[in-house]
Amino acid sequence: MADDVGIPEDIRDIVKGSITGLHQLVDAVALPLEAEHKATLTDERKFFTEDGRICDEILDARKQVRMKSAEAGYYGMFAPESVGGGGIGIRVMVFLEEALYRRYGPGRPLITWAKGCLTQPVLASFVDGPSHMLMGVSPSVREEFIPSIAKGEKMVCFGLSESDAGSDVWGIKTRARRDGDDWIINGSKQWITNAPYADYSVIFAITDEELVAQHKGGISAFFLETDAPGYTFDGVLPVMGHQGGDCGSMTFEDVRVPADRLVGQEDRGFEVAMFGISEGRIAIASNMIGMCEFALDASLEYAKQRKTFGKPIAEHQAIQFMLADMAIDIFTMKYMVLQTAALVESFPKTGRMPVKEISIAKAYAVEKAQEVYDKAIQVHGGMGLSSELPLEEGFRIARTLRIPDGTGEIQRRTIARQMLRGDTVF
Ligand SMILES: Cc1cc2nc3c(=O)[nH]c(=O)nc-3n(C[C@H](O)[C@H](O)[C@H](O)COP(=O)(O)OP(=O)(O)OC[C@H]3O[C@@H](n4cnc5c(N)ncnc54)[C@H](O)[C@@H]3O)c2cc1C
Repeated sequence: MADDVGIPEDIRDIVKGSITGLHQLVDAVALPLEAEHKATLTDERKFFTEDGRICDEILDARKQVRMKSAEAGYYGMFAPESVGGGGIGIRVMVFLEEALYRRYGPGRPLITWAKGCLTQPVLASFVDGPSHMLMGVSPSVREEFIPSIAKGEKMVCFGLSESDAGSDVWGIKTRARRDGDDWIINGSKQWITNAPYADYSVIFAITDEELVAQHKGGISAFFLETDAPGYTFDGVLPVMGHQGGDCGSMTFEDVRVPADRLVGQEDRGFEVAMFGISEGRIAIASNMIGMCEFALDASLEYAKQRKTFGKPIAEHQAIQFMLADMAIDIFTMKYMVLQTAALVESFPKTGRMPVKEISIAKAYAVEKAQEVYDKAIQVHGGMGLSSELPLEEGFRIARTLRIPDGTGEIQRRTIARQMLRGDTVF
């Protein structure tokens, strides 16, 4: 942990203890599994099955990591206690995601695409495990399903986007209609992270057309079992040059669920979604800090060793400027994200959800991460492009993350709308 002088003592203590514990957990559980499955992890033809799914061998290893992490108290540590989490604040999350990605993130030479595949599952997110998004589940869902999610045994996914509705969530077409005590759901979802592997999904569907037309609600969230009759997984959607991936689409044909599968209040599903998305935005921004620190560490090291024109390239001012620019971006994103997380934590006291700041942090971090990786590749010359030093993968990850959880344009739209409504506090 750096000189985080503005961070209260109690948070610093949790962070220090947790980083040490997390590193020990990853070293003891995830890295031996990586070594055991190296042949599969380093060859996409083995890693993915023909239909683009991650193979069972790796899914099993991932599950072991999740479950061991849950046993050790890390997996759901940022989720509320009511859904089996540790109830730890989001500022700690920033430091932990940073530490995890700096040490084990993309760029580690051992493993190519799949690097992170067995280390990242130590911390749950709203697209796979226990999170604030599940706070609104009914007592029966909490009793029947949440314990296995909290243990890392089962996984959930977050199904909002559709083929015709991504940025514009009001455009979703999935509908839920009441039939006696049940809801019947029809529609489809697309681009859903973890859909190929999830046991359950939180699905967003229209329950009141008029409210939707006025953009005043009318979308509800439902907790579904992915093996329910009428629920079909349609296939994996590979992204950015991969043969498979984590995203998928699904269709619902008369999926019948009891009334107690509603998550949160009827017609107020958008609020449930925002719990997930806001947390996701800060988590992505935190990952970017660690991922960029990794790239800077590698670039500093390389610049000291690599010689041209009789001296280490670190002595050329052009290289120094790139290293310095990377540092400027990392420092800025780190303290921007930490301040945003502090504002989120203070919400119960202030009543002000930092909507604008969350969008600023997400947009800034992913856009700057791409620039940082671009510079890291430049500092490494040809080696930067080689998949032996997968900096190119960090570049692709940063590029990819400019789309989910709100594109750069949608973040800017949110920032501008908040300011035009009077939120001009900085
Ligand atoms: C890797 C990945 C993982 C994902 N995971 C999930 C998930 O787990 N769950 C889920 O529900 N969704 C998920 N998504 C979907 C994601 O949220 C959407 O892709 C995203 O919101 C953008 O929607 P879209 O793709 O439909 O693009 P569109 O909304 O069609 O946008 C196309 C372009 O138009 C721009 N644009 C749109 N509206 C405006 C506007 N008003 N002003 C200016 N520009 C605008 C956009 O910024 C973009 O550049 C994921 C997507 C990806 C790529």
